[in-house]
Amino acid sequence: MPGGVNSPVRAMRSIGREHPIFAARGEGAELVDVDGNRYIDWVCSWGPLILGHAHPRVVAAVREAAERGTSYGTPTGGEVELAAEVVERFRSVDMMRMVNSGTEASMSAVRLARAATGRDMIVKFAGAYHGHVDGLLAESGSGLATQGIPASPGVTRAQAADTMVVRWNDRESVDAAVDEHAPAAILAEPVPANMGVVPPDDGFLEFLRERADTAGAMLILDEVISGFRVARGGAQEIYGVDADLTIMGKVLGGGLPAAAYGGRRELMDRVAPAGDTYQAGTLSGNPLAVAAGLATLRELEEPAYERLDALTDRLSAGLRDAAGERPVQVASVRGLVTPFFSAAPVKDFDGASATDPEAYGRFCRALLDRGIYPPASRFEAWFVSLAHDEAAIDRTVAAAAEAFDAAFA
Ligand SMILES: *Cc1c(COP(=O)(O)O)cnc(C)c1O
Repeated sequence: MPGGVNSPVRAMRSIGREHPIFAARGEGAELVDVDGNRYIDWVCSWGPLILGHAHPRVVAAVREAAERGTSYGTPTGGEVELAAEVVERFRSVDMMRMVNSGTEASMSAVRLARAATGRDMIVKFAGAYHGHVDGLLAESGSGLATQGIPASPGVTRAQAADTMVVRWNDRESVDAAVDEHAPAAILAEPVPANMGVVPPDDGFLEFLRERADTAGAMLILDEVISGFRVARGGAQEIYGVDADLTIMGKVLGGGLPAAAYGGRRELMDRVAPAGDTYQAGTLSGNPLAVAAGLATLRELEEPAYERLDALTDRLSAGLRDAAGERPVQVASVRGLVTPFFSAAPVKDFDGASATDPEAYGRFCRALLDRGIYPPASRFEAWFVSLAHDEAAIDRTVAAAAEAFDAAFA
């Protein structure tokens, strides 16, 4: 396997560890590796495991589904139930189409936005990640940022030319791109979490909504991380901004491969076979993934979000205290935390890129040595789950106090 992994963020070379963790099993908030080491897991499969590992209701739902058959290639009641759960949570989503990964969902939403507007150009933000869609790889966050890959070879000039990269939280750069290019869509993570967590400034999402409207462009919000996490109805619920198209994944599949894109009825009716815009998938709406997703969403009712809030606050306040006077900024939104090794608050990808990789690496290695598993990238969020508890957080914070010493030694 290239780099020993099936997805780049799993590698640990960027924090100075030769080998990634090889997982043997997960239990709630803990990951056990093949050597029997136990870690408090702040990665949680990079977002899907909002209930932690091997949640009994999710495991039971998957087992029961598997006993009935693993794939049919024809619709099931579960897909209708899952779509109904999503439509009820997201005000802007009347209809949705399931796919197998966030990458596929982004690719399909962009295709639909182009079909609906008759335009080609996509405006995206530096440091945002929308999966490894060719045209969306420029200045991406996540694994590309971690590996220092600004734009991937293998992307054609035509695909790159149809993407305009602008700066997060910078209205002027959005205005300039939209005025110059008349894009098909403005594409954003409403709570960016692939350059670390960098919430929108006050009014920024409302501004994107207005700019898309005045330009006749679609607003596509990629809620693959934020959906069902920062709130029941995602970032759109918190900020009161409706997308034309919403991209979902991660929590939606409850730890199995599932993702979706959705939006207003007249837009989604353009998708084949209702309409002319083609998109398909042999395993889309897979019954095991749908069962895991449904079981997960059904746990995500109050007081779950209140609890997630309290856990997130405890972790972020604890890390802030542990860092003390050192140049560390702890950013957080419900369910997501990033300790940036920076003297100044981080507002965009330039700020995230200016954080100290060496100090973050020393910090991570010290945490791993103490049985705490943080994301091995300064561009990723720590994912809080409902399986984490006060004791896990307090152990993490105690280890972090020593790890900050190691980071700044
Ligand atoms: C993870 C992620 C994706 C890609 O999802 P995959 O299932 O890994 O293809 C897209 N957008 C965002 C915001 C993500 O965090």
